[in-house]
Amino acid sequence: MIQIPKGCKDMLPSEAYLWQTVEGIARETAKLYGFKEIRTPVFEHTELFSRGVGDTSDIVTKEMYTFLDKGDRSITLRPEGTAGVARAFLSNGLQGGVMPFKAYYLISAFRYERPQAGRLREFHQFGAELYGSAQPEADAEVILLANRFLNSLGVGEAVHLELNSIGCPACRAKYAEALRAYFRPHLDKLCADCKVRFEKNPMRLLDCKEEVCKEISAGAPSILDSLCDDCRAHFEAVKKLLDGKVAYTVNPRIVRGLDYYSRTVFEFTSSALGAQSTVLGGGRYDGLLEQLGAKPTPAVGFAAGLERLLMVMSAVDVPTAEQLPDAYIAGMDAPSRAYALSLAEELRGEGLLVETDLMDRSVKAQFKYAGKLNFPVVVTIGEEELREGAAEVRNMFASTSERVKFGEIAQYIKECLRR
Ligand code: ATP
Ligand code: MG
Repeated sequence: MIQIPKGCKDMLPSEAYLWQTVEGIARETAKLYGFKEIRTPVFEHTELFSRGVGDTSDIVTKEMYTFLDKGDRSITLRPEGTAGVARAFLSNGLQGGVMPFKAYYLISAFRYERPQAGRLREFHQFGAELYGSAQPEADAEVILLANRFLNSLGVGEAVHLELNSIGCPACRAKYAEALRAYFRPHLDKLCADCKVRFEKNPMRLLDCKEEVCKEISAGAPSILDSLCDDCRAHFEAVKKLLDGKVAYTVNPRIVRGLDYYSRTVFEFTSSALGAQSTVLGGGRYDGLLEQLGAKPTPAVGFAAGLERLLMVMSAVDVPTAEQLPDAYIAGMDAPSRAYALSLAEELRGEGLLVETDLMDRSVKAQFKYAGKLNFPVVVTIGEEELREGAAEVRNMFASTSERVKFGEIAQYIKECLRR
């Protein structure tokens, strides 16, 4: 038997409603803030990610699914959504359009990682992006959208917002020096990756998941002490806009794994999860669009990991209801079964979820099937019913049964369902 590739998961029909609930709430919430959906290709030119995500990020250095296509082009399965949206914004000339530009996406993303709970090779994200505003109000709007999404999902109490500012390139150059001065005496104890990070991008040291590096970096200086006046004022304004709307903690250790961030960065984490505790991460990335060839365009956004969200939902027992069917039509013999199929079609035209026998089962077996699937109404048709033009309709909620004329069945079922 052929196995599913490592780090992937099937979404089965029995759990489809969970995914649809999460996706539905994502769409509804995005809509409330005026964000519209964008869909971009699953794969892009590799260069988009090496330039856009940044070539010192974990994603680009270790995690990308990259291959040569038959035309010898280097192609990469998208490891995240932001770079593709930025590329689409540029390729489609949307720079000249109305600002701010607001878009959301529901995508699968691919990273070659070591699979574990909450860490897959194919995973799913809900993300939102806002371009064209450097105002703190834009940061606040994106964070409030994320917060409303989590609250509407029912996990608001199980997550917490952590907020930081990583400043502009000038603040970071100053901070990089402070970090190098701090880490230099410990250099030989750091992991191999961090030795490279020390040279190339010392802030990334704070994001290392190795125990030794985590211990050493615990005493590192805070970025907040390196912020310039403008970045400091921006961060203060964002916090003020959020005060009273969403609880947060300032955590100067949050730097985010991607190279394109600037100023505001944030994560919603949950203690209901183990090591992979971040369910949603985002921030401002004012440099990305310019990096990809646009005129300078400030931007802010987030992405939530849907698998991790589903884990939190199940850990805190968020009630989610599977859609119930409406009516089952049982036929006692061949002519009745044929009529059952016609009646089913008619009722579906009325918007009812109707099933009928497709397995040549006995009436008893058909009832058993209807019971297993929790059909609230069961319609039975036999020789006598066909002759009379009326069926036996059983309301399973009320345990009552009635003869109903064929033409009145749709109405009757709707009344049963209303109760
Ligand atoms: P981590 O630190 O856990 O590796 P990250 O910083 O790489 O996360 P982002 O690139 O910010 O994650 O992606 C946003 C969100 O997508 C994460 O907060 C997480 O919920 C989810 N996510 C990222 N990588 C994976 C993965 N391999 N499997 C499942 N979900 C993931
Ligand atoms: Mg990662």
